[in-house]
Amino acid sequence: RAKAHGRGRAEIFDETLRLQLTERAELEAAIAHGLAHGEMQLHYQPVIDVASDRLTGYEALVRWQRPGHGMVPPDRFIPVAEGSRLIGDVDRWVLHEATRQLAQWRTECPARPGEPGPTVAVNISGRHLADRRVVGDVADALAASGLPARLLVLEVTETVLVDDPVAFDHLSELRAMGVSIAIDDFGTGYTSIGQLRDMPVDTLKIDRSFVGSAEPAHRELVALMIRAAHTFGLTVVAEGVEEPEQLERLRSQACDQAQGYLLHRPMPAAEAGALLGRTEAVGPV
Ligand code: C2E
Ligand code: MG
Ligand code: MG
Ligand code: MG
Repeated sequence: RAKAHGRGRAEIFDETLRLQLTERAELEAAIAHGLAHGEMQLHYQPVIDVASDRLTGYEALVRWQRPGHGMVPPDRFIPVAEGSRLIGDVDRWVLHEATRQLAQWRTECPARPGEPGPTVAVNISGRHLADRRVVGDVADALAASGLPARLLVLEVTETVLVDDPVAFDHLSELRAMGVSIAIDDFGTGYTSIGQLRDMPVDTLKIDRSFVGSAEPAHRELVALMIRAAHTFGLTVVAEGVEEPEQLERLRSQACDQAQGYLLHRPMPAAEAGALLGRTEAVGPV
């Protein structure tokens, strides 16, 4: 039976594969076109200091306003870009735009004397981080914008740090330039808390699957991550805070910063910039 159907199946398989490859090639071409024609934009999600409710910075999140398709979220095109050289182009564009925007906000609304002012965090793909050019790309964005290096945070996933010695070296170089490094989605990979001690990182972002979990074991784990990170001198950000109880718990666990729909959703630059001029707390009271 299998033999009798074998040929037909192979043809169906070929056809499916051909379609997938065509779709992928079309999507890649559309991303490249979009980058060249101003279809990409950044939304900014505020990050809040848990103790004071004050703004500490923003995470820049890319969106693609694709004609005829509406707003395409990053999960729908970043993986495709990561499969080709395009991811370097996307990351470079995001680096330039995010640093340019924060530098502009700083001229419009200077930080108060003695305060560093808010940071901007940019997500860097593992593939781009493994590319030798990443160090120069970050240096170029800082030079073009005039933004002080200490106000730029690069977010990387933990697998990059554990699996790739080349990326690890690039991160060490970037950190030596004064840029901060954050481990994104911490807890979803296989890093043990002890390994944090030897990593070139400044900040730990706890994945929202732990922050939002009702399981007592997960809550204990969050408390443990915060204590361990503090032991190693790292700042802790909780991602995906959606409920007031979560924020209260994080406060009692001495978590440093929080980000999530409860506080602010990611928003266009004009709205995000308006938060800067406010002197009062920007989180929920
Ligand atoms: P991420 O870096 O972990 O970003 C956080 C994601 O969680 C964002 O989704 C954000 O909108 C969402 N989020 C924030 N608060 C909440 C909350 O309270 N509840 C829930 N359910 N979600 C929340 P977004 O913008 O769709 O981005 C998804 C992922 O795409 C990012 O995860 C990041 O890995 C990637 N990404 C986004 N922008 C870029 C970029 O410029 N370059 C690269 N290489 N990757 C990017
Ligand atoms: Mg991130
Ligand atoms: Mg994350
Ligand atoms: Mg993520």
